[in-house]
Amino acid sequence: MNTLVQKQTQENIIVNTDCSFDGVILIVDDNPTNLSVLSIALKGAGYKTRVAMDGVSAIEQVQEDPPALILLDVQMPGINGFETCMKLKANPVTQDIPVIFITASVDLDQKVKGLSVGAVDYITKPFQQEEVLARVKVHLELRFLTKKVQEQAIALREANQELHRLANLDGLTAVANRRRFDEYLDQEWRRSQREQNSLALILCDIDYFKNYNDYYGHQAGDVCLKRVAQAIDDCLKRPADLVTRYGGEEFAIILPNTSSEGAVHVAQLIQTTIRQLSIPHHHSLVSSFVTLSLGVSSQVPNAELDAHALVATTDKALYISKAEGRNTYHLEC
Ligand SMILES: [Mg+2]
Repeated sequence: MNTLVQKQTQENIIVNTDCSFDGVILIVDDNPTNLSVLSIALKGAGYKTRVAMDGVSAIEQVQEDPPALILLDVQMPGINGFETCMKLKANPVTQDIPVIFITASVDLDQKVKGLSVGAVDYITKPFQQEEVLARVKVHLELRFLTKKVQEQAIALREANQELHRLANLDGLTAVANRRRFDEYLDQEWRRSQREQNSLALILCDIDYFKNYNDYYGHQAGDVCLKRVAQAIDDCLKRPADLVTRYGGEEFAIILPNTSSEGAVHVAQLIQTTIRQLSIPHHHSLVSSFVTLSLGVSSQVPNAELDAHALVATTDKALYISKAEGRNTYHLEC
């Protein structure tokens, strides 16, 4: 992993363990005295509270404005605490809110049932304020830390995806790099072999690019490379087609499921598009503008060969188009 990202992630993990709490605790109980006693105790400890007197209105409140934690009476008229809890746990919006049951029953089966429907804990009545506050504090902290870990896991996954993307990108032209070329060509070669489809490759080279750099300077050379890369990319219409920077002024285009005719069509389109850019090149020996030489090949992969065979054939085609005077393409089968 990139050391900067790693360092930032470690710093986040260290910094974000502060369990400061600013949420609301919802107390659900059909007994007004219980509601009042619990509210006073929690407010006295610095928590904000809301109340509900039955399961249905509790569920409505929770969906409208989710609290940080719910204290839920088990014995209530209408839907009881267990059913209320099951409904909250079945809804993705409310399922992560910790629920602590408050029950008059000391029956083990009831406690086990409470935990099995998704509660994190239970408190038996008559309750002690100290116990209520201690359990509330523990579960708020647990919830806070769980959320932080989840957030950091998401941030880490995103950072990894970005690193993976950057690792496959050419820094100058923003098209895929040579590393991605090798990986993708190998992948598509094997896929085409399995499916017995044609895999096409185009290699193209900017004509007399050394003269271009010598005359216009390397900064202008970089701008030229970027414009050519972008123009080639614009010629590719299918999601599986990939342009990569193959070398200094060489680009490689991988075209899965493409015949020789299809690949020649793409090569012609690229050639025309680059000509239309009309980038002046006074030291080219074939044109007043930047042009390309292109090698084209398409093969149905043979089990006895690997992707290097396609590269070698396409390289030969590029060599021939250069030998034929550049600013042209050649198909080699
Ligand atoms: Mg009750």
